[in-house]
Amino acid sequence: VGRTSTDTYIANTRLFDGNRMRSRMGVLIEGEALTWLGPHVRAPVTARKAGRQIDGSSGTVTPGLIDCHVHLCFDGGADFLAEAKESEPLAALKCVRNGRRHLAAGVTSVRDLGGLGAVVCEVGRAVEAGIVEGPTIVASGQALTISGGHGWNSFARQADGAEGFRLAVREQIRSGARSIKVISTGGVLTPGVPVDFRALTQNELAAAVDEAHAWGYPIGAHAIGRAGIANCVSCGVDSIEHGFQIDRKIAQEMKKNGVFLVPTISAIESILDHVDEVPSYVAEKARQVADDARESFQTAVRTGVPIACGTDAGTLHNPHGSGPLELVRMVRLGLSPIRALQAATSRAADLLRLPGAGILAEGSRADVVLWNGDPSEDIASVMEPRMILLGGRPPALARQAGQAPRQHPPQG
Ligand SMILES: [Zn+2]
Repeated sequence: VGRTSTDTYIANTRLFDGNRMRSRMGVLIEGEALTWLGPHVRAPVTARKAGRQIDGSSGTVTPGLIDCHVHLCFDGGADFLAEAKESEPLAALKCVRNGRRHLAAGVTSVRDLGGLGAVVCEVGRAVEAGIVEGPTIVASGQALTISGGHGWNSFARQADGAEGFRLAVREQIRSGARSIKVISTGGVLTPGVPVDFRALTQNELAAAVDEAHAWGYPIGAHAIGRAGIANCVSCGVDSIEHGFQIDRKIAQEMKKNGVFLVPTISAIESILDHVDEVPSYVAEKARQVADDARESFQTAVRTGVPIACGTDAGTLHNPHGSGPLELVRMVRLGLSPIRALQAATSRAADLLRLPGAGILAEGSRADVVLWNGDPSEDIASVMEPRMILLGGRPPALARQAGQAPRQHPPQG
């Protein structure tokens, strides 16, 4: 009773539940929720009645992936600064389309770390209200930077002084932000601000952290240079974004305090892969940090710093939907495939404070992906989603997003 053809049973499959891998499992999805999982041989009678029967024997089921660092207002073309001058209505349309690109890649939740005005907050609300289809969006509103700091001429709101930052945090939250982003060092995409420039003072950082945490929201810090990273870790931010100059001492501090690294390897590699097509100051800055970035990531991995997957999609030549590629890149640099999968599921949900996301358990929302192959053996399997379910249903518009998932027709 109450069973409809939209219910799905994935039979006899490998299952990664957000923490560990098990084989010969079954997953039953009824309506929007995952209602049963366990050994396939013990599947309840209701599983056989589900309208959609999927043979998962050659594949692996995981939670929908989470990308903790995107910029939905930006397409990832060569001219970031020009894109930042476009209108907010156009940016909103791009957000919707870019959200679909994530979905098509199997990414069902994203955290946006800086857009135009309140655009991403509003698009996130539209997704929640069912007005448009899209991944769950944890928006930060505008990124917060000091006067003249990285991003001031593109995606960031300027603030100065502890009270200035406190006000800026409150404004983002009033607009609908559910996370906060501060830009605590220079960056690659703003000319004239060196990447290792230490931007926010301790007082400014402490005020921003205090205010975000008072509301119960996580705060991520764009931090590239060593001094800026150390500042952020001692002031209690939840994540270091990029973190290209982490040494052993900082890594141990991060591990001790549970501060995440979101390494955004794709941000640097995308630039280096298109070095002739980006402004020369960008190419130069990217080359300058590339070796540091690799070493820093490896130090963090060895030390046991919590890692969450983030691509920085929307920056130069870094397209939306590249979350799976970031996993491949992290594994190439030494992260184990299981830790990489955790970084894009359970760990990411911890960082974003998204209870119920990033794990598969009875009662959790059915954001589920079936991949061909076994990503714990070959992480590149996550480049090929075979079936994507968003709240228990295949996203209707994923095929129009330009990166069509290879979905097999329902069987049985
Ligand atoms: Zn970014």
